[in-house]
Amino acid sequence: MKKILIDEEFCKGCGLCAEACPKKLLKIGRKLNKQGYPLVEIDEAGQEKCISCALCARICPDVAIKVNKSDD
Ligand code: SF4
Ligand code: SF4
Repeated sequence: MKKILIDEEFCKGCGLCAEACPKKLLKIGRKLNKQGYPLVEIDEAGQEKCISCALCARICPDVAIKVNKSDD
């Protein structure tokens, strides 16, 4: 199961989560959401390396990230 779920319509591409991630797993990509904001992304390798610390979710001003802490 994915550890990081990004709500594409809430993300505004501010990059705060990318700065906060201690593992540097998040980055602003090229894909735009409906409002025209570039979306933050995490790839499959990043999903596996994620330590579920939730710093990204806590810093997001738009509550666009959910962290799944279970291992299943
Ligand atoms: S902090 Fe939130 S709004 Fe900003 S880039 Fe990350 S997910 Fe998007
Ligand atoms: S939960 Fe922690 S390690 Fe995982 S993406 Fe967010 S800040 Fe990075």
